[in-house]
Amino acid sequence: MPHPKKSALELNEKEFKEIGYQLIDSIAHLINNMSDLALTTDVSTEELRAQLIGHSISDEGVSAKELFNKTTELLINYSLFNGHPKFMGFITSAPAPIGILGDLLGSAINPNVSAQILSPIATEIEKQTIEWISDFIGIDSGYGGLLVSGGNMANFTGFLTARTSKIPIKFKEKGFSCLKAKWIVYCSEATHTWIEKAVVLFGHGLDSVRWIPVDGDNKIDDNQLENSILEDIKNGDSPFMVVGTAGDVSTGAVDNLKRISEICKKYELWFHIDGAYGTPAAALPELSETFSGITEADSIALDPHKWLYAPLEAGCILVKTPEHLTDTFSSRPEYYNFDGFNPELAHNFYEYGMQNSRGFRALKVWLVLQHSGKKGIIDAIRKDIELSRLFYNLASANPNLEAITQNLSITTLRYIPNEANNNIYSDLNYLNRLNEKLLSSLQKSGELFLSNAIINKKFSLRACIVNFKTSEEDIKECIDIIVKTGKQIHLEMSSKSI
Ligand SMILES: *Cc1c(COP(=O)(O)O)cnc(C)c1O
Repeated sequence: MPHPKKSALELNEKEFKEIGYQLIDSIAHLINNMSDLALTTDVSTEELRAQLIGHSISDEGVSAKELFNKTTELLINYSLFNGHPKFMGFITSAPAPIGILGDLLGSAINPNVSAQILSPIATEIEKQTIEWISDFIGIDSGYGGLLVSGGNMANFTGFLTARTSKIPIKFKEKGFSCLKAKWIVYCSEATHTWIEKAVVLFGHGLDSVRWIPVDGDNKIDDNQLENSILEDIKNGDSPFMVVGTAGDVSTGAVDNLKRISEICKKYELWFHIDGAYGTPAAALPELSETFSGITEADSIALDPHKWLYAPLEAGCILVKTPEHLTDTFSSRPEYYNFDGFNPELAHNFYEYGMQNSRGFRALKVWLVLQHSGKKGIIDAIRKDIELSRLFYNLASANPNLEAITQNLSITTLRYIPNEANNNIYSDLNYLNRLNEKLLSSLQKSGELFLSNAIINKKFSLRACIVNFKTSEEDIKECIDIIVKTGKQIHLEMSSKSI
């Protein structure tokens, strides 16, 4: 006889096992057969809503087994799979299977990785994960940090830490009223939108950002950066931070980090690297030149849910002098009485970042790093880069495609009709409209998934490969699909315009 349920929340052991085994079977099947499935659904939001069961929560609850069967089916039928071999849109990796299992284990143990006393082994695992990530990207072992939800949060944490370290100490008490000068942050025009959110949310205002132009390779123009700093100093403002990008979201360009670090040293500015996407590629010996200067950064943001293949969510901030994190985020109210645990020795992650209660994000990252090993991950990153170059080369060789950029694992390209030869079909506006329609059609097709970039006013298709499932065959097929669909769209558009 099974034990009767004591609470509506319980699942008895037999039921738990039955559902769990079935779930693992379904997930294993999904992972191994994903390429046969449509990459995404084109079902409307109304229809999606109609698939959800019931209009309100039932009073009595429902059978867990049935619920799980239906939910698994629902998610498999109506999701976009960023683990699909032809998913190359935005920057979300295929999730490493060991990370999927790690999330299940982590939530079963359910440690609150806020204070060491609440998460004895989990805290050690997160500390080790931070050490390993630092080691992987080739920076000093003294960097400290923590896992956060993603790149935005990692960059916000870096921003606030930079501010604490550079702004007068009375700012903590008095806030902005104690500042005479404007505190300025510098970044390239290619910087991700997090910087806008940061200056708005943290009270600096959009005027406090200097958007430095980029050169032809989408890298920050170092000379303009230095001139802009000098100009602000002359005007009595207070520069405090420069953001270098390591893998810009549109084209994958890595700024000249070495040069930025020299400028930061010269003017005593905080050097932050937004490497949410690109930083793990610093582990590749052949890219050491590209990433030279990374070891000088005061803080680095990177996303294990991008190029370390961890399932969402996992971002990470690394800070050269970790005390700056505790200076920024530590507060010890009376109701956190962890003294029995020796607060001087305890590593309480709530004192290192914005979150208080924290889940065990580190576990999946720690497992992925161990399971694949350093070489395994380096090989996967290298393969992504090679596939991206193949994409670029095949596009270059195709008369209907214009290959535009290739950096790290991002390729941009656009479709060009056959008869685009000094006529309306070679017009920038026409090609932009054509490629915009093409992208939208490809995204809905369920065959592959790309995103877009605007490069020198050209609306371009953008393929970013952070996917250990993608093969050469996939790339060749993507080229064929793009050309075939491009032809159709051009035919429709040109026949309408006549
Ligand atoms: C992805 C990305 C971000 C934002 O990261 P999220 O994980 O989406 O919050 C910021 N900067 C760069 C360079 C990125 O690639």
